[in-house]
Amino acid sequence: MARDPKYDILFEPVKIGPVTAPNRFYQVPHCNVLGHGRPRAEAANRGVKAEGGWGVVCTQEVEIHPTSDVSPFIEGRLWDDRDIPQHHLMTDAVHEHGALAGIELAHSGFHVANLYSRVAPIAPSSIAAYGKYPVQARAMNRRDIADLRRWHVEAARRAKRAGYDIVYVYAGHDLSILQHFMKPQYNQRSDEYGGSLENRVRLTREVLTDVKEAVGDHCAIAFRFATDELMGADGMQADGESRDIVGMLAEIPDLWDVNISDWSNDSSTARFEPVEGYQEPYTAFVKSMTSKPVVGVGRFTSADTMVSQIRRGVLDLIGAARPSIADPYLPRKIDEGRIEDIRECIGCNICVAQDNIAAPIRCTQNPTQGEEWKQGWHPERIEAAVSTDPVLVVGAGPAGLEAALQLANRGYAVSLAEAGELLGGRVLRESSLPGLSSYIRVRDYREHQLRTREKVEIYLDNRLAAQDIIGLEIPHVLIATGARWRRDGIGRTHRRAIDGIEKVRVFTPDDVFAGDEINGRVLIYDDDHYYMGGVLAELFRERGQEVCLLTPEARVSIWTENTLEQAKIESRLVDLGVDIVVSHWITKLEAGGAYTRNSLRQRLELNFDSIILVNSRVPDDALYQELLKSEPRFKTLRAIGDCYAPGTIAAAVYDGHAAARHLESDQDMYAPLFTREIPALD
Ligand code: ADP
Ligand code: SF4
Repeated sequence: MARDPKYDILFEPVKIGPVTAPNRFYQVPHCNVLGHGRPRAEAANRGVKAEGGWGVVCTQEVEIHPTSDVSPFIEGRLWDDRDIPQHHLMTDAVHEHGALAGIELAHSGFHVANLYSRVAPIAPSSIAAYGKYPVQARAMNRRDIADLRRWHVEAARRAKRAGYDIVYVYAGHDLSILQHFMKPQYNQRSDEYGGSLENRVRLTREVLTDVKEAVGDHCAIAFRFATDELMGADGMQADGESRDIVGMLAEIPDLWDVNISDWSNDSSTARFEPVEGYQEPYTAFVKSMTSKPVVGVGRFTSADTMVSQIRRGVLDLIGAARPSIADPYLPRKIDEGRIEDIRECIGCNICVAQDNIAAPIRCTQNPTQGEEWKQGWHPERIEAAVSTDPVLVVGAGPAGLEAALQLANRGYAVSLAEAGELLGGRVLRESSLPGLSSYIRVRDYREHQLRTREKVEIYLDNRLAAQDIIGLEIPHVLIATGARWRRDGIGRTHRRAIDGIEKVRVFTPDDVFAGDEINGRVLIYDDDHYYMGGVLAELFRERGQEVCLLTPEARVSIWTENTLEQAKIESRLVDLGVDIVVSHWITKLEAGGAYTRNSLRQRLELNFDSIILVNSRVPDDALYQELLKSEPRFKTLRAIGDCYAPGTIAAAVYDGHAAARHLESDQDMYAPLFTREIPALD
């Protein structure tokens, strides 16, 4: 199909200093924890995006010197010439498809503890290092400042030799030493680099000018700048000093890459920023202050919104990290008039969480993300079917839907049986919760695709028993029947049933979805620590009920620190008037009362009318266990997704994908043999 002419504007080339982007789709720098530890995987990950039509593809932050060592995180590294060859892999992979390659040179200042290099972190002033590591950064002297300028220049020269077209100077996310110099909270200097705004911006101006002088004839110089920190007067503000800074530096860089800070605001989840383009109020002013092109982000997945950003003069280039992760082929799909095929980011930040736990990237919507080199998985291509055998998939949650879709893409005839009246499984249920409506995209994308495939039969309202399945005589059967929340309290803290639980009518999230009457004061006991406990607290407060959220962890929904949501969840629950009790676990339950204690042996008695346990789940695998008794009848019989091992939606999608890829292959999907990057010992 041809592109709709209303999107032509997105495919115009944009001149950026000495280089020209082939279109307006711009993958801004984003982490993937492949980086210097897994350079082939890094190159493949970025190369697929160039193939998918992104006109510019950037690295993640790249450390320029051992004084900026982000260990244990594995991002980019360009400390000396020995790092150049691995960057060549990335630039070659991007250039192969006609895109420009950008590199985000970064010095993290006091944001790192230099755990590998073991040199003292540096900062404008002596200041405690970020995070919890008990180390302090030392105040930079004049020689350090000269060194920092030189390191930027040396890194830029190396970047040019490695083949990059765009070289970044970075002052964003509260993660960069240049930004640290700009902020009075961190910069207490009394020399010409501290005090007045002119002085605090001096180092950035110098670095921008130095880098431009060094490589600007060949490479475009991009300046990534956080225009607002959403902290009011306690931070940088779009209608405050930020505006003055843009004015002071307006024409120095070749490109302004603007966003909001910190990372939790820049990469806000859909739960807290449901609408595309949420950064516009803070970044839109930049275009009116410079003649240089501007790129910005805002979880853009809709081509119409992108066009509107350009036409209204908000941005010149459509920046994306997460939309490019969820669908590396997004630009090509717009170009080919296949809007309906776009796999839209759901704004869950599972990708971000991986970075926060220093593990390679993964994505809920795109199970091939990070697997491009490791397993040779391509987001749009898959191996052809090995035989003409039909396949039965039982259960249409994320695992069953993804398995069915990929099997259909391979060319298998697929029957998908679902007990419910609608497809979606857990995403259908969970997307009905406050703030999680975007999760339904996991189903919508797959349902739409499945309905366009010829050899797919979908049977709704079809709960299959083992005998039904045996009677069908289909040789390959994948069981994706999901999981149920436990009723006995067993979870991370309680390895045995909670004392007294048999005396109490206990509810679980499944009962909430089933519409059970859950009345009066609700006690939610969260030993799961991801979103469910907090989101149910929100739901019952919205219904006007009194809610107490109790967790054995030190903070509510503590795992969501990794998705950058924890502080926002806590604040929302406090605003809603939820009673929050942390660091306490239940020692005994009685009708209407829970007895708790903490590690200081303090005790509480919490009253409730209804109690909801959000602890852990059990696989709904009775059907699978029954079928195992007849296993020899099947060529393939497999449990996948939550029915195999309860986990995240991302894990279920991945499992469904892997099962489809591995069907009738030599690969044991329970123990896949993938390619690994092993350090050479020569
Ligand atoms: P996952 O996250 O692993 O995909 P879900 O819990 O989201 O799992 O989805 C499981 C789906 O399987 C649900 O929609 C459920 O209705 C369906 N299901 C469970 N048992 C059967 C069965 N015996 N026959 C058909 N569908 C089933
Ligand atoms: Fe979007 Fe979630 Fe994928 Fe990240 S993990 S790109 S937020 S769908």
